[in-house]
Amino acid sequence: MINIQFSTRQNKIIEIVKENQPISSEQIASILKVTRATLRTDLSILTMTGVLDARPKVGYFYTGESRSTLFLDQIKDIKVKDFESTPVVVDEGTSVYNAIVTLFLEDVGTIFVTSKGYLAGVVSRKDFLKSAIGTLDINKVPVGIIMTRMPNIVMTYPEESMYDVAVKIINHQVDSLPVVYKEENEKKILYKVVGKISKTSIASLFVDLGAKG
Ligand code: ADP
Repeated sequence: MINIQFSTRQNKIIEIVKENQPISSEQIASILKVTRATLRTDLSILTMTGVLDARPKVGYFYTGESRSTLFLDQIKDIKVKDFESTPVVVDEGTSVYNAIVTLFLEDVGTIFVTSKGYLAGVVSRKDFLKSAIGTLDINKVPVGIIMTRMPNIVMTYPEESMYDVAVKIINHQVDSLPVVYKEENEKKILYKVVGKISKTSIASLFVDLGAKG
């Protein structure tokens, strides 16, 4: 997590600057009863992170939040619905062979599998490779047999933050998550697949942030 913990002295410096701005490094040093040299590292950390602003011949100002906090807030504000891509979905009755063809035609690494229109599972490259080295007749066996199935599917929601999705992808060591809408049907909770967030979505968010920087 991008979060900087300041030392006790750095926090004291922030308080001094808040109350006395603009204030020179000599004045800060004299309030803290230390030499200017002692403060050099602290002051450069505080200016680099954007908490303090140093203006030549004027002194230090307090600018508000640290840049790292602002960056984190910015990432947490970006929602799945703004970065999701189109999901590739097949019915659980589709043969493994046809699902592999779909994987190639759609140029994806993961396919979401539905049963009666609702999320039933996920099938990825490794699942297909496993089925290919076994004795399965991939023309006959339905994809529902080789998929990872509910309730073990890690999902995300349109309103979830991109940061939280990235955490899920890392923690569960998967390439992509279905974006779902929850529906209650005769007391059963079912999920409609409406999108997809993959490692590529995270990379394009990263590129977007860099381009804005
Ligand atoms: P690959 O097979 O290309 O390495 P993954 O790392 O995403 O792709 O898949 C590894 C395993 O995790 C596969 O068995 C796959 O079915 C399963 N899997 C993939 N995505 C999910 C998900 N969102 N939730 C649960 N399991 C998943």
